[in-house]
Amino acid sequence: MDGDRGAAVALGDPITKVAGIGPRRAEDFRRLGIERAGDLLTLWPRRHLDRAAITPIWQVRPGETFTILGHISQSALKTPPGRQPFLRVVVQDPTGSLVVSFFHAGWLKNQLTPGQKVLMTGRVDRFGRNVAMAHPDFELLQPDEEPRLGLVPVYPLAGGLRARFMQQTMQRLLPGLAVQAADPLPPDLIRQEDFPTRSWAVQHLHFPHSQQDREQARRRLVFDEFLRMSLAVLMLHGRADTRAGQIQDPDSALVRKFMQSLPFALTPGQTAVWKEISEDLSSPRPMARLLQGDVGSGKTIIAALTMLAGLSNNRQAAFMAPTELLAEQQHVVLSRLFASVDIEVGLLTGRGKSADLVRDDTASGKLRAVVGTQALVSQGVRFDRLGVVIVDEQHRFGVRQRAELSEKGIFPDMLVMTATPIPRTLALTVYGDLEVSRIEGLPPGRQPIQTVHISSADRRVAYQAVRDRVRMGQQAYVVCPLVDENEALNAKAAVDLAEGMRKIPGWRIGLVHGQMPLAEKTRVMGAFRQREFDVLVATTIIEVGVDVPNASMMVIEQAERFGLAQLHQLRGRVGRGAHASTCYLISDPKTEDAEARIQAMVETQDGLALAERDLEIRGPGEVLGMRQHGVAGFELANPLRDLTMLERARVVARKMLTGDPRLNRPEHANLRQWVREAIDEALPGQVLH
Ligand code: ADP
Ligand code: MG
Repeated sequence: MDGDRGAAVALGDPITKVAGIGPRRAEDFRRLGIERAGDLLTLWPRRHLDRAAITPIWQVRPGETFTILGHISQSALKTPPGRQPFLRVVVQDPTGSLVVSFFHAGWLKNQLTPGQKVLMTGRVDRFGRNVAMAHPDFELLQPDEEPRLGLVPVYPLAGGLRARFMQQTMQRLLPGLAVQAADPLPPDLIRQEDFPTRSWAVQHLHFPHSQQDREQARRRLVFDEFLRMSLAVLMLHGRADTRAGQIQDPDSALVRKFMQSLPFALTPGQTAVWKEISEDLSSPRPMARLLQGDVGSGKTIIAALTMLAGLSNNRQAAFMAPTELLAEQQHVVLSRLFASVDIEVGLLTGRGKSADLVRDDTASGKLRAVVGTQALVSQGVRFDRLGVVIVDEQHRFGVRQRAELSEKGIFPDMLVMTATPIPRTLALTVYGDLEVSRIEGLPPGRQPIQTVHISSADRRVAYQAVRDRVRMGQQAYVVCPLVDENEALNAKAAVDLAEGMRKIPGWRIGLVHGQMPLAEKTRVMGAFRQREFDVLVATTIIEVGVDVPNASMMVIEQAERFGLAQLHQLRGRVGRGAHASTCYLISDPKTEDAEARIQAMVETQDGLALAERDLEIRGPGEVLGMRQHGVAGFELANPLRDLTMLERARVVARKMLTGDPRLNRPEHANLRQWVREAIDEALPGQVLH
């Protein structure tokens, strides 16, 4: 019999081995990421419908959610004058009948036909004089079929897959499959943490008997996800190893000289962070530290100090930026800073003859400080003696690049900087191996930035304000819309915008975009700094490293096209001088998310608060680029909510690796295999010793 074949299916069997799944459905499953039967185990339900019990229709009252079971007696599309069309269905059971309505769902008419047996769960409300259930979850039943009650899993669907089919398939296959899967946790640990077995947890996350069941199952599975991630990260970075790093001198003559050349004293926040970094640098353990600090908090100076300390004993320092443009910007900034101590900074972005030269000089050790992009970790680049690595804007950088870079040196000290402050919880999650430092506070004299949202129809208001500022001798940025991933198109938009603005008499307009040669960009930025322009029209190229205190106004065109982190970065270009600053967001947001981003910008200037809002709006995967780069993203775990579990998993991971750094003990065999798979997924080809 078909239904019994479930028991015979093995984890590694192709999904087509399952009764009822032919090539067509297999293709639908493939779109859900399911190729083998074993993949079904972790096709987690999106949620569960709570079908506590069936209520006879005569007992249904407005204001609550009910599950009813009956037959459809009427089904018709209605179009009340001046209102939206809707599908009106009447469901009847032996005790009475109830109206059920669906808006924008004409296509349901073919499913909800008179005579059809249905189970419906939804909220019942009063609509005018009538009582009805609107948009219930429903299930179509065969005439002799009994519905499943209790907590019913709702699975993601694709193609022709139907909810009912998914539930039935899962219910039939899961028990047989779950017991075949090895439990990755050693029995001692399971006992000690009072966990259920993984097999139990998997089955009960799909088909819990109660909410408590579900919670207990989830607890175990979330722990598994965290433990796997923690182990992968720790093992990848060789942090469990006792290999020695280098000892740098954070108080070298070079560092002192640089410190003295600064026109200001470090802020208390910077001083505190520099102390933490100094301790790392002077210890033989390789530094792996995340430096957080809001836009304008002065991270660059800290990076510069760290690089200079890294130059002790003839070593080299590298600064890695996420894009070529940002690398160029940082190169300008660092060159300027290091001029005072006579250190030349190379720029390596992977193009042309000059890149070859920089490459050679890097390999020979002649160049001691290099700024670059991913090109720095590419095959061709060798360092003579790499001492320190700064990674900027970590959220766009993968674990992979970091690991690759450490392989080039002798475990260099690594400082990872992020201008998008990441809530501590998430920092722990994603950078499980990093210590976290945060620069508190901003340099003195910063002015609050007023942020105003105006619609594109009212954009004149913004430009009028710019005109007033310019008249007072202040300067402004106009950031043109992000048209495309393609920089050439963005550049064109900037050119067009600048051209239009140049027609306005009395304004001196500068233009900078990513397609200009570096020298030209540098010239324009220099001229803007010297007040040769009143207004600088720019692409997002000015997002990082640009620092012109006299610029007190920013207009961002089509602001909804930018991410929240990017808007915050851009806005951070103003509010740096003595003048009160304003940022105009010109935008007609068309989605809820876009609306939420703009709203968040208007409401707060606090980078941390914005980062948290960003997480709410987009979720951690998107925000941190984990989908693309991370070590196996989380499916069940919510790093914000499950913090205690995360911390527990980290403690367990560290302890485990202390006793067994490579998970070679027999009781860790399953675990090792499982971590191995996570690493393969995220970083194919990475060697795990
Ligand atoms: P971040 O990279 O954190 O956004 P920057 O390093 O670009 O910030 O610093 C922002 C501005 O503040 C720069 O002009 C920098 O010279 C200035 N700055 C940094 N530290 C101090 C300080 N301790 N006192 C005064 N100004 C500072
Ligand atoms: Mg910076």
